[in-house]
Amino acid sequence: MHSFDFSTVKALFLDLDGVLWNGSEPIGDLKAIFQKITQAGVVPILGTNNSTRTPASYQKKMASFGVQIEQNQIISPAVGAAILFKEKLPANVKIHVFGSSALKEYLISAGFILSDESAEIVLVSLDQDMTYKKVETAKRLIDNGAVFYATNLDPVLASERGWLPGGGVMVNAVETCTQQKPIVIGKPEPLLIQIAQKQMGIKAAEMVAVGDRYDTDILGGIRAGCRTVMVLSGVDSQETIKIFDRQPDLVCQNLNEFADLLLQHKGN
Ligand SMILES: [Mg+2]
Repeated sequence: MHSFDFSTVKALFLDLDGVLWNGSEPIGDLKAIFQKITQAGVVPILGTNNSTRTPASYQKKMASFGVQIEQNQIISPAVGAAILFKEKLPANVKIHVFGSSALKEYLISAGFILSDESAEIVLVSLDQDMTYKKVETAKRLIDNGAVFYATNLDPVLASERGWLPGGGVMVNAVETCTQQKPIVIGKPEPLLIQIAQKQMGIKAAEMVAVGDRYDTDILGGIRAGCRTVMVLSGVDSQETIKIFDRQPDLVCQNLNEFADLLLQHKGN
């Protein structure tokens, strides 16, 4: 049926919306699904582009579905940015955040100094209180030499109210007035997935990216050198991905089906 080599799989980089849940509704019995993954000897990593929620809040949400997960198994561009900036920059670096208060709080808790006056880095993300003044501040700091980073370029964001404007809207505003392109941390850029691999000390070939969207999850996985599994429980369908040259390595109805395959081929 397929030539997917399950024996080399050590970790999953799992998208959340459309894979684990749709809004507040879990997709399948998450407790049983995660038990199968663990029983197969595979580490699940929750990898989201959403930086408006902290790892602690996702940990809580998973717990409400009966799944115990460590905070270091949850990675967002906020987490990725903190790891990246610590690696690359001196400890006293000043960062300007044009984004949510959750993102600001996370970076402060990670030991960074945030500033609106001067900064070596401007990090742009989803800001549901976006104003002209915030765009102006980001522009001024970037014009003065700050490096422009973006958590993601997502055009839209899933919510219980339907599709809302995503982080890409704020990034585009800054891009337009600075005429500069950001370094993007989230999917479909490979950076976030590569950071997760490095943190775990595993090779790209040992990680499988699982997602419901081709243009973020699957493309990000491909760019990071992972194998990819598309689930049909979210945005994309067999029909919508036909146009892409490079197909996912495997297509499953949902995460449960993939967990069954993992356990069947890998479990002992
Ligand atoms: Mg998704």
